[in-house]
Amino acid sequence: MKLTCDWHIHSDNSCDDASMRIADLITGAAAQGIVNYGITDHIHTPVNWPDVEASRAEYLASDPPLGFHFGLEVSCVSRWELDEVATGAHGSPTYGLRQGGPPGAEPALSIEQADIDRLGIEYVVAGVHWPMYVEPERDTIIRDYHRQYLYCATHPLVDIIAHPWWWHGHWRDADGRYTTDPWLDDFGKIPASMHDELASAAIEHGKAVEINISAILLNPAYPATLVPQYLEYLAYLRDRGVTFSLASDCHRAQYDIDFERPAAMLESIGIRDEALWRLPARVGAV
Ligand SMILES: [Zn+2]
Ligand SMILES: [Zn+2]
Repeated sequence: MKLTCDWHIHSDNSCDDASMRIADLITGAAAQGIVNYGITDHIHTPVNWPDVEASRAEYLASDPPLGFHFGLEVSCVSRWELDEVATGAHGSPTYGLRQGGPPGAEPALSIEQADIDRLGIEYVVAGVHWPMYVEPERDTIIRDYHRQYLYCATHPLVDIIAHPWWWHGHWRDADGRYTTDPWLDDFGKIPASMHDELASAAIEHGKAVEINISAILLNPAYPATLVPQYLEYLAYLRDRGVTFSLASDCHRAQYDIDFERPAAMLESIGIRDEALWRLPARVGAV
């Protein structure tokens, strides 16, 4: 099986270490046979809007092919955090505040319909990137993540739920790998009832669930034992009737993603390229 779409890609405008020029993405996608795809740089809080504006300008200047779209990756944050950042008292925190708020704070996304209209955003990928103001205790983190995922899965402006159960931060080994908590050594630590709830929410609200290559399936920092467990999880979501969206989550300077290994993994659990989420090709110039 050949994979032909990719809905989560970062450009050199992204606030993190992503470094690909959009022109190089277009060339690389053509070489890889990726025909439906989109750029999705980060928005955590309004501090990041200038990066997305730069991304939009580079996208428009690239003479984008009809199958190449402009999207956005938005982080789940909180109403408390957006209000705090808006005071200006914290300067311009690239990744938001991420601490100091009340546990259980009302989740929020830093996007409005007006932003989508103004920047020609064709689709929104929403991700959980960090716990919100809770102690690094496994079950607490799991509950907080699940709460954030459910919020993303019910938000009216979201199309795709990014990289379910990606983890980064606490419990990192000295060599940079993740081999223990919160669920990297055993994905079964996450209650199956949460998978049931997320599947139901995604289906009910018409959201796709992402299959992420760089962050999950081929993440070199994760143990090899995670992949078969994660594929079982995807197979469960498939059986529930969830629609999947494919993501390279490319942060590299060149679009040199290994699509072959994930294609074989997905084929092994009966997920076909033609069943993946897609935007229709644009009918004309942007
Ligand atoms: Zn992400
Ligand atoms: Zn990303």
